[in-house]
Amino acid sequence: MKIIGMIGGMSWESSLEYYRIINQTAQLKLGGFHSAKCLMYSVDFEEIEILQHEEKWDKLTDIMVDAAQKLKRGGADFIIICTNTMHKMASDIEDRAEIKVLHIAEVTGQQVVKKGMKKVGLLGTKFTMEQDFYKKILEEKFNIDVIIPEENERKIVHEIIYNELCKGIISETSKKKYINIINNLVLNGAEGVVLGCTEIPILIKQEDVNIPVFDTTTIHAISAVEFALDNKV
Ligand code: GLU
Repeated sequence: MKIIGMIGGMSWESSLEYYRIINQTAQLKLGGFHSAKCLMYSVDFEEIEILQHEEKWDKLTDIMVDAAQKLKRGGADFIIICTNTMHKMASDIEDRAEIKVLHIAEVTGQQVVKKGMKKVGLLGTKFTMEQDFYKKILEEKFNIDVIIPEENERKIVHEIIYNELCKGIISETSKKKYINIINNLVLNGAEGVVLGCTEIPILIKQEDVNIPVFDTTTIHAISAVEFALDNKV
């Protein structure tokens, strides 16, 4: 079993989910008392959140590269970044720390294709929804059409992530707002919705909506275990 290096703490609410799903998956696949060999470097999210909103991506890249190097020195065989947003610098991390990064949009794209879907809605932070780094992979590598909510809805999605979900606040009102936004994506032709922020699956579950949801936290965590156990790769 390869050692999974996790860059976590963005936020720790979703890192908890990663740790749980990774270990449950290892146990399910291997039985007995098996659990996953993993290391987590958990950042101080206050620093990260401030730099994100100041758009200081170079500084953030340095922090992520440093975290990956620490994990590598600790024995990690590959890295997962436990947030969608910080995949903005995934290739810099891979190049500068010289360690494989298992990309969240790539493993999600594989699942969308497996379901035979051609057009999906994307929810996430404004960085993930509005910038190119995430959508481009789904669009160019997997030929999937990606649609995002309109501007005021994107603001709602973004603010609920930072002001509530990253602080462990789960509200019925916010859940209803998300469901309405997902329904509007369906009206615009979305066949499924990518929950492209690792905290959203804490709020929105498959049973809440009528179209397939792609829970990126679960997909990424399960893929990490599969990758760790696959001796061919
Ligand atoms: N965990 C979130 C994501 O998946 C947002 C927190 C962050 O900005 O890293 O994008």
